[in-house]
Amino acid sequence: MIIPAYVARNARKYPSHEAVIDGSLRVNWQQLNQHIEYFAAHLTQKHDIQQGDRVCLVLPNSYTFIVAHFAVQRIGAIVAPINVKLTASELKYIFNDAEASLVITCAMTSSQALQACAELQLANLSIDDMPEYIDRHCTDGSLIELDEQAIATPATLLYTSGTTGRPKGVLFDHKALLFVGMMFATEMQYRPESRLLSLMPFTHSAPLNLTLVGGTIMGSTHVVAPTFTPDLLLNLVEQERTTHFFGAPVAYLLTAQHPQIGAADLSSMTHWIYGGGPLAGDHARRVQKAFASDQFYCVYGLTEAGPTGSLLLPHEHRDKAGSVGKRAAAFTEIRVVNEHGELAAVDEPGEIHISGEGVMREYWRNTSATHEIFTSDGWLRTGDIGVRDADGFYWVKDRIKDLIISGGVNVYPREVEDALASHPAVLEVAVIGVPHEQWGESVKACIVLREPVDESVLRAHVEERLADYKRPREYQFFDELPHNANGKILKHLLRL
Ligand code: ATP
Repeated sequence: MIIPAYVARNARKYPSHEAVIDGSLRVNWQQLNQHIEYFAAHLTQKHDIQQGDRVCLVLPNSYTFIVAHFAVQRIGAIVAPINVKLTASELKYIFNDAEASLVITCAMTSSQALQACAELQLANLSIDDMPEYIDRHCTDGSLIELDEQAIATPATLLYTSGTTGRPKGVLFDHKALLFVGMMFATEMQYRPESRLLSLMPFTHSAPLNLTLVGGTIMGSTHVVAPTFTPDLLLNLVEQERTTHFFGAPVAYLLTAQHPQIGAADLSSMTHWIYGGGPLAGDHARRVQKAFASDQFYCVYGLTEAGPTGSLLLPHEHRDKAGSVGKRAAAFTEIRVVNEHGELAAVDEPGEIHISGEGVMREYWRNTSATHEIFTSDGWLRTGDIGVRDADGFYWVKDRIKDLIISGGVNVYPREVEDALASHPAVLEVAVIGVPHEQWGESVKACIVLREPVDESVLRAHVEERLADYKRPREYQFFDELPHNANGKILKHLLRL
């Protein structure tokens, strides 16, 4: 079945079960299904959206996003969720690349999207209140037959966040989404009674495919809000008795510092999930303590893989926090391949490869990039350097592109970041290579402090942990580091 068919199935199985909670709006599966049917018909009849057309959503997490997302897929068109924080020129690049037929926005979308649409003379539909919009504009729903064969057709176009270059469109078909969703639903024990809290933007593969798609397949309830703040996280867990949350490591670090965390009732939560980066050094322990829970799951993957990859389970955190687990996720395999193209030996660094049904189909209209990312035997090259230790656990040492080569020797920024992050005064750290006349590159630490500390103290802390050639030569302190919408540090901005 194509993904929106699961909404229709939920509507038959659990019509009055809550499907989406967005602020004061509470919608059950029957209502959600009806709204999707009506809006899907409206998209074809009034906006002439045809099978295969691209519809961009520049929307925060909301009920409007959810209806629009499934309605576009429902008619065989391709949904392209776009980060609401992009500038007009970044948006123009993506709208052009996708050859979008329609852009859906709302009052909360910045003027940048409207400007980009105007400059490209692109059709724009602005919707603030989806149920009200449907009441007023959509009269003729339920007209489209679901095509059982459509599982192999493209469903979603996700743009990478561009932390390593120009964003590329990652194209998934319904089958890949189904496998990614089933993988996560299985691994995280989603049930119809589960209540999934989505505060990380649906424009990123993990919140979109792991939570929105995975939860929908299982008939779980989605609790959504337009943005992440520690306040919202604590309040919504308490008010809505949510069970699962996926967040970037920084979301956990910030919330762990919140003065109310000790008083918040988080007892409904069975799964605290993080990914996109490690909870390095002592951070995992600190977060577990602040959240008074050891139910932490680490997910490793990348947009191109769905994201599927591997999982570090709660009981494995005690000895292996910082690793990405020893087991590939359901329907997935991972391997480390050395520079000779052979399976790497224990502790030998190599590139991590992923294979499985959740992996993307191709880069949108970019045959050469597609060709480059797949090996001749069909595995996806992650661009990550990793090792497998003697206990079988995988460690992501770094992205190949972030590797620092100083005096001809490799320095993995993450290793240096881990060493610095283990100091209690350090809230967040990014380590980068900066040009150096003699060594080619030298190591620089960009740090946000939790509490004041002298640079010499951090230098001494690092001296105890790292060989001389890995130690930062330069320290710079920031009030905050630049992040993308999903909480990932934008290292290329620090290198400017
Ligand atoms: P772009 O691909 O444009 O650089 P991005 O960094 O946001 O954008 P993602 O696909 O979200 O793209 O990032 C995936 C990368 O994040 C992985 O290749 C890996 O380097 C890192 N990563 C993801 N999960 C983890 C994890 N649990 N632990 C360590 N690193 C992780």
